[in-house]
This record gives sequence, structure tokens and C-alpha cells, in this order.
Amino acid sequence: MFPVRYFQMPLMEFETEEFLSWQIFKESCLFTECRQCFHISRERSSSLHDCRAPHISQLINRIRRSKKLLVLDLDHTLINDDSDEVVPVTRPYLRRFLTSVYKHYNLAIWSASSMKRIKRVLKELALDKDQRFRFSFLVCHKAMRSVKKGGKCVTTKPLAVIWENFCRWSAKNTIIIDDKGENFLRNPREGLKIKRFECERRDRELRKLSVYLRKISKYRDFRVLNHKKWKNCY
Ligand SMILES: [Mg+2]
Repeated sequence: MFPVRYFQMPLMEFETEEFLSWQIFKESCLFTECRQCFHISRERSSSLHDCRAPHISQLINRIRRSKKLLVLDLDHTLINDDSDEVVPVTRPYLRRFLTSVYKHYNLAIWSASSMKRIKRVLKELALDKDQRFRFSFLVCHKAMRSVKKGGKCVTTKPLAVIWENFCRWSAKNTIIIDDKGENFLRNPREGLKIKRFECERRDRELRKLSVYLRKISKYRDFRVLNHKKWKNCY
């Protein structure tokens, strides 16, 4: 198997244009590594049902070294695209939420849809051009992996895919927000479940969440926290 640490070390130094050429090299390595992983896992473990090549967008905005990482789901967490509206409906307080948490976290989107659609939604809602907050990178469905749970095949968002690419982040300083708890099966302690957004005008989840995320941002190690009780903080 390709030694993942081999390309973790130089990443510490990559913050400029060099990153883009490095990214192309790294993704090809990751694909090789993932194919081998799939081959081995099929022999050794039945729990790892599928293993696709991880897919993370090139760095679209500069990473701020001192900030932690907040990974956000898109559908039914930040937006709702099920209605007949021309553009997706944004969750109440969305822009204020992103502006608030951006002060303390690097932001990333991880959606179970294609990279093309993620970029289109961000563009349609002008979330990619807002000066008050920036997304560092995007992760699409190709990075998701399936596990078997109770005889069923469940798709998850393993944070290891990100941590293997950006070694500054780990369980100590990463949170993933999603309306679907199953996505945290690989990272139960780093996951924070939010109520599914169904276009309710009185929804206040993001407002409450911004308070919680601001309060915990001072913790040096998130592993001492239990995100299941996040609403108790509000
Ligand atoms: Mg969702």
C-alpha cells in the first residue's frame, strides 16, 4: 500500500500555487492507494463494503493555520433543493452563521452529490463570492465510503479522507455537521447532528449552532466534548 505519510509531510509547507500541482500528484497517489486498500479490505474485512477514490477539490481558498476545521453538509443542513424554487432555499440565518463561524474555523463543504453540483449551488446562492466567509475546499460523493450496519449498506463520510490530505487536522480540531447521523458512523465523536431542514421559515438551528461553535472554539482538544448535547449549551 502507498505510504500515506509520505505525502503528508510536505503538505505542511504547501500554501501557495505549488499546492495545485502537488494536488494533482497526490490525487493520483491516493487513487492508487485506495484501489489497493479496496483489494486488501475485501480479503480481510467484510465491513468495508466499498472504497472509492477520495475526491477533494483543489484548495479554493487559503487555509488559516490557527483555525480549526468545520465540515458542513449541504442538503437539508444548509439548503433545501427539493422545492420548485428556481434556486435552492437557504436555511434561515445561513449567511450570518457562516460569517460567525468563519472567525473561528476553516470551512469545508462535504456533500453526497457531485462536485459539479456543489459548485453550481454555491455559485447560484453567491456563497462562493461572499467576502465575509470563504470555503477552503469541497468534498463530493466520490469520497464517501459504505459500511454494513445491521445487514444494510450505509454510506458514510469518513473524516480520515480529509485528515490524510491535511495533516494539521485530526479528531482534536475537526467537527462535521450533518442532518444524517449515519454519515458519522466512522466518526461518532466528531459528528454533530442538526435537525433536517425542510424549508421551515421559523427554523433557528443555525443560529443556535453558531453560539455553540463559538463557545467550543477555545477548546484545544475537541475530544473532551460530547456534541450530542450541543443544544444544552444554548
Ligand atoms: Mg444532508
